[in-house]
Amino acid sequence: MTTPKDRSACQTDGGTLLEVAVALPVAEIFIYRDLPRAGRLALGSQVVVPFGRRTVTGFVVGYAEGAAADMPHDVRQILQAVGDGPVLDKPVLLLCRWAASYYLAPLGEVLCAALPSGERASSSRRLRLTQAGEAALDAGGASRLAALALDADDRALLARIKKARTLSHARTAHSSPAGMARVTFLVERGFLEVSDAIRGTKRRRNALDGEGVDGVSTAGESPPTLNAHQEAAFSTLLGALDRGYATFLLQGITGSGKTEVYLRIIAEARKRGRGALVLVPEIALTPQLAARFRVRFGDDVAVLHSAVPPAERAAAWRRLRRGEVGIALGARSAVFAPVRDLAVVVVDEEHDGSFKQEDGFRYHARDLAVMRASQGGALAILGSATPCLETYHNVVLGRFGRLVLPVRANPAAAGRPLPSVEVIDLRRHPPGPEGLLSPPLALAMEQTLAAGEQAILFLNRRGFSTFVHCSACGFVVRCNACSVSLTLHRARGHLLCHYCGRAEPIRQMCPQCKTANLEGMGSGTERVETQVRQRFPGARVARLDRDTADGGRGRIEELLAKVQRGDIDILIGTQMVTKGHDFGGVTLVGILQPDQGIHLPDFRAAERAFQLMEQVGGRAGRGERAGRIVVQTYNPEHPAIRFLVRHDYEGFARDELAQREAAQYPPYSRMVVLRLEGRDAREVGDAAGEVARCARAVADASTRVLGPSEAPIPRLRGRARFQVWLSGADRGKLLTVSRATQRMPLPRSVRLEVDVDPQSVL
Ligand code: ADP
Ligand code: ZN
Repeated sequence: MTTPKDRSACQTDGGTLLEVAVALPVAEIFIYRDLPRAGRLALGSQVVVPFGRRTVTGFVVGYAEGAAADMPHDVRQILQAVGDGPVLDKPVLLLCRWAASYYLAPLGEVLCAALPSGERASSSRRLRLTQAGEAALDAGGASRLAALALDADDRALLARIKKARTLSHARTAHSSPAGMARVTFLVERGFLEVSDAIRGTKRRRNALDGEGVDGVSTAGESPPTLNAHQEAAFSTLLGALDRGYATFLLQGITGSGKTEVYLRIIAEARKRGRGALVLVPEIALTPQLAARFRVRFGDDVAVLHSAVPPAERAAAWRRLRRGEVGIALGARSAVFAPVRDLAVVVVDEEHDGSFKQEDGFRYHARDLAVMRASQGGALAILGSATPCLETYHNVVLGRFGRLVLPVRANPAAAGRPLPSVEVIDLRRHPPGPEGLLSPPLALAMEQTLAAGEQAILFLNRRGFSTFVHCSACGFVVRCNACSVSLTLHRARGHLLCHYCGRAEPIRQMCPQCKTANLEGMGSGTERVETQVRQRFPGARVARLDRDTADGGRGRIEELLAKVQRGDIDILIGTQMVTKGHDFGGVTLVGILQPDQGIHLPDFRAAERAFQLMEQVGGRAGRGERAGRIVVQTYNPEHPAIRFLVRHDYEGFARDELAQREAAQYPPYSRMVVLRLEGRDAREVGDAAGEVARCARAVADASTRVLGPSEAPIPRLRGRARFQVWLSGADRGKLLTVSRATQRMPLPRSVRLEVDVDPQSVL
């Protein structure tokens, strides 16, 4: 830290020393002097502090009292506290501290991620004159100014701010560095203050969280009587409630009534005045779930929707913090919601990939949820029909308990087995040159339509053609910024990069051989839709993927409601159709090409393919009529398909775990990937080489260092990418090695990101 210009300010106030995590990507925690006022600032308070020549926001994360006497005199003072109380409560602070050390992330950055944007003080902070500042301006004469230790430049700055009434911090920062240092000085001396009108933190008492998400807000629907399996699970959970930390896997087939069990145990927690946190993969896709919570708990639920405007989200946050609302329901980032006296943490569809945050502060919300329960002595419930293998392994090791719901809960479907699975071997039933539907699947669809029932077709690729090539010279159209081919989106009339979002017009002319031979290859959901419409002209067809979802949350909900009402006969979609939808009329699920997913160069590929197929298959036969699943594949012998046929999750898990163990992949080892990127491929490659050398020098026999190597997508958004993989059984050692690489001096243009427990190999 630099030395403040005024030492006497530090000495007159012998105040408390505080530990502050600044909202910048720096690993250290800094010591500042508390504001000179009665009572010390609470832990979790958001503050404005001088930092070098800048002023930045930060959070009070600890007290450093004991050290006061040993502290050098140049400890600077906090400039201002934002708002009128802490923005982070103690359990969240504790969780963030753990997360920062586990994920090797700067605490300030973690704390920022833990707050909704509306609660975060931002760089749109404004400066305005204090009374002392006004007086200094009025004072005039040079000698008076000198007595105040101000020079003519200071006076000019004060005058400028006075004229503009307020001046944004960012604008001031654009002026010369000396000017910025001077601003900090003027704030420290009390001539300027950072305005309280910080964007998004204005109080809005009447803002409603998630209002209109589901149109229901009255509690009181009477819950169904639990079936024997639900009852058994519930009573185990009830026995564990109030007994401190425990984690249970609630393993229930699709439609087995897991949600009902969550609702019941949460009701018990609320009876005791304690709080609950419910994490779901994507709320937009599961309006039904949010609606069920609303029906049961009314206004006692805060739905933390990312589509809710920041101010309303912040308002919901504050109501939770004050204990006015006892239940928080949201996606990934809701794991940081300030629920009071947390008793139950639910992670629904815990296997879902969306719980992993893939940029900035990379964390896994499921793992943080379990840690939060453990720190707070709460009950964690991980629900899934297809648990992720790490979770399953934790059950095997006895770390997690397991509760099983083996039958469907809906009385209309009860006692009926899961949908039958027919595997169509595409080597024997080719779908034809243009075709995507093999004859047996087309027949099954005809039968379904004839019976007045609904079908879902699942293909995990959006767009019309997955790539465009020249049939004369073989040229493939690629993204300028990324090393991937562009996808043809015919309805929207463009070629699109699925990684950076760049769009280009569709053309016929090949830029390489100058003939008009460019044509789309491979199939996405849009082509499936076109073919289905041609083949079943009378059917009402809809498509659900990220393109249709672009119409916003309303579009998705409208579409899901139509399927629900039976106004759609055939729904085609990507993994968005696999989520927890409960459509009574769907009896057929067609899985078009699982092969590409199965063969991805990722050790989790088989697990993901199995989970997706089982999940989408679970949409069939939830109502009064039995369902069937038709999978068309070139790999009928693959374990993901073989075990799907029998709906044998256990068999699949054991088989897959044996392979993971043989290869020493997670959960039998831990992994960290060091991701490097920058403009210049040579420079990034060299830096990656240095990083790998450093890792090898620090690593011992328990840690394997792989690489450096180009990432599978070597260029993304114009930036070259390299990776170094670390794996080993000793997590502590892995972190030591990672930390050593983080401290390496790298060229300024190269960025190193540490991804602990990586979920993606890309
Ligand atoms: P899951 O969360 O396991 O997919 P749900 O809780 O959504 O299952 O239950 C599936 C369907 O069964 C829902 O329509 C739900 O209302 C109904 N249901 C759940 N439990 C019962 C019960 N005990 N009695 C009657 N219906 C139930
Ligand atoms: Zn791109």
